[in-house]
Amino acid sequence: MKRTFTEGLGRKELAEIKACTQCRECLRYCPVQEVTGRVEISPSEKIRIYRDFIERTESLRALITGRDIPEQLLKDFTRAVFECTTCGVCGEVCPAGIDTQRLWPLLRREMVKRGLGPVGGQAEMPEVIRNTGNPYNQPPSERYRPWFPDETEIAEKAEVAYYVGCTGAYQAQPMVRGDVLILKAIGIEFTMLKEEEEVCCGFPLFITGQHELLEGLVKRLVDAYKNKGVKELVCSCPCCVNMMAKDWPFYYGKELPFKIVHVTQYALKAIKTGKLRIDHGLEERLIYHDPCYLSRGVGVIKEPRDVLRSIPGVELIEFDRWGRLSRCCGAGGAARKVFHDNAVAIARLSIDEACHRGADRLVLSCPACYEKVNDAMKDYPKKVRIVDIMELLSEIIYGQNA
Ligand code: SF4
Ligand code: SF4
Repeated sequence: MKRTFTEGLGRKELAEIKACTQCRECLRYCPVQEVTGRVEISPSEKIRIYRDFIERTESLRALITGRDIPEQLLKDFTRAVFECTTCGVCGEVCPAGIDTQRLWPLLRREMVKRGLGPVGGQAEMPEVIRNTGNPYNQPPSERYRPWFPDETEIAEKAEVAYYVGCTGAYQAQPMVRGDVLILKAIGIEFTMLKEEEEVCCGFPLFITGQHELLEGLVKRLVDAYKNKGVKELVCSCPCCVNMMAKDWPFYYGKELPFKIVHVTQYALKAIKTGKLRIDHGLEERLIYHDPCYLSRGVGVIKEPRDVLRSIPGVELIEFDRWGRLSRCCGAGGAARKVFHDNAVAIARLSIDEACHRGADRLVLSCPACYEKVNDAMKDYPKKVRIVDIMELLSEIIYGQNA
């Protein structure tokens, strides 16, 4: 029997596909639209086309006439759903309340099941993760060693654990170094898994619709932290945090035995309780960029700003669109390598705005944003200094040579 277009979706997603009114409010916010102007890859078109797939194959008329979907239409749809950065702002502004940040990955999964997706190098991810534990094909022995601060103790067992994440470990090392320096400055005992044990959180597989390895990865990680007596798992990568908070319980099969905490939440609590002291000031005008999976994903918007406001002398300014409406940096949805030009063009919109607003530095809190915004500055006349939030904090606390 042929696979249907509805069997891979839940009641919520099917209701959402029906609910779209084609009002096109989402088009005004979509970053891919902003840089390509191609309506065929817009949120409303993706939903309209998918609805058409269902109609063509599952309606009474379809059963009588036995219509098929042209192969090219399926291929074009697959490309459109993978070209999206899954930033989710379309869902945020959607009057019908469609949770697009969740819907798009499930439509991607459907196209993977049909043998049409994923796209480009994404297809190699499962094999690469199986072999190395990370999607970048990097040696596990290099996961911590190149950036880990000297004289930092890692407890064998502790109630707090730090998960580095693959993108931070291999592509945004100042960021994860900053995280560890801040945990050290707070003075708590924390544990970490060994380099070969800290495997991918599963997000790149989830987001590209390749879900086969997820259960194994999640169970392996959750059980490893449970065996260390962990009660709070601290992480700075918004995609990892999102995956852990929203999807790990499903793949683990029950509630997690620990809480998931974003590093800015942990740092803010320490600042408020006096465990983390910021004695030096910084006379700078900072602009903070909300990562899609941190703001829209898990609602962490206030904490990073409160951390920045706790630095004496800092003037915090905002992008035109911030918080739940923030614009994607271009790096999301595992699309940054396959649709590189889109990603660079989107990142440059943030660079332009940060320059226009006279920011001394653009503060980021996501390793993918860090990598992409840096990359987008190459051969671009406008420049803004970028810094990760914990990198900045550690610079202030330990001095420039942290
Ligand atoms: S998730 Fe973001 S990139 Fe994808 S369609 Fe929606 S607004 Fe556009
Ligand atoms: S805003 Fe929502 S209802 Fe309107 S076209 Fe976009 S997805 Fe459909």
